[in-house]
Amino acid sequence: MMIAEIPGNPGQIYLKEGMGMKDQTCGYCTGGDILAGFGIKICDLRVSQLILFKEQSHPGRVIVAYQDHVSELVDISEENRNLFFADVAQAANAIHKAFHPDKVNYGAYGDGGCHLHFHLVPKYSDGFEWGTPFVMNPGKTYLSQEAYAEMIQKIKDNL
Ligand SMILES: [Zn+2]
Repeated sequence: MMIAEIPGNPGQIYLKEGMGMKDQTCGYCTGGDILAGFGIKICDLRVSQLILFKEQSHPGRVIVAYQDHVSELVDISEENRNLFFADVAQAANAIHKAFHPDKVNYGAYGDGGCHLHFHLVPKYSDGFEWGTPFVMNPGKTYLSQEAYAEMIQKIKDNL
């Protein structure tokens, strides 16, 4: 059993389910170089991890990835699904407060990866891809390490 304290909610502690399914080829399971190819871990939430998406054409874009290597929302308990959605909502709330997007788009795909996760993509009415579905990875906008660190701090401050 791991115990997780929720950022921004000291004292609120959830017991995490035991070390569930992991896949050694999956960036969400292993972290390290695979994750570093597209994201930077910000922190753990109740039953998931919050990850900054390195491609930042949509300022504030993050991923909320479930704690275990499961493919489907229907593969986890109702209790954990509710906690997972609480994590998604907490992350979205932080993005709204930190970056003031006009809309947050939500995407859950994973045909190939099979690890339950949501992309949270802030959209701005005068910005990139407004009014159309977001591209999975536009490959255009990458930031300096300092700018990533600043963005991560801004998100943490609003969790
Ligand atoms: Zn995984």
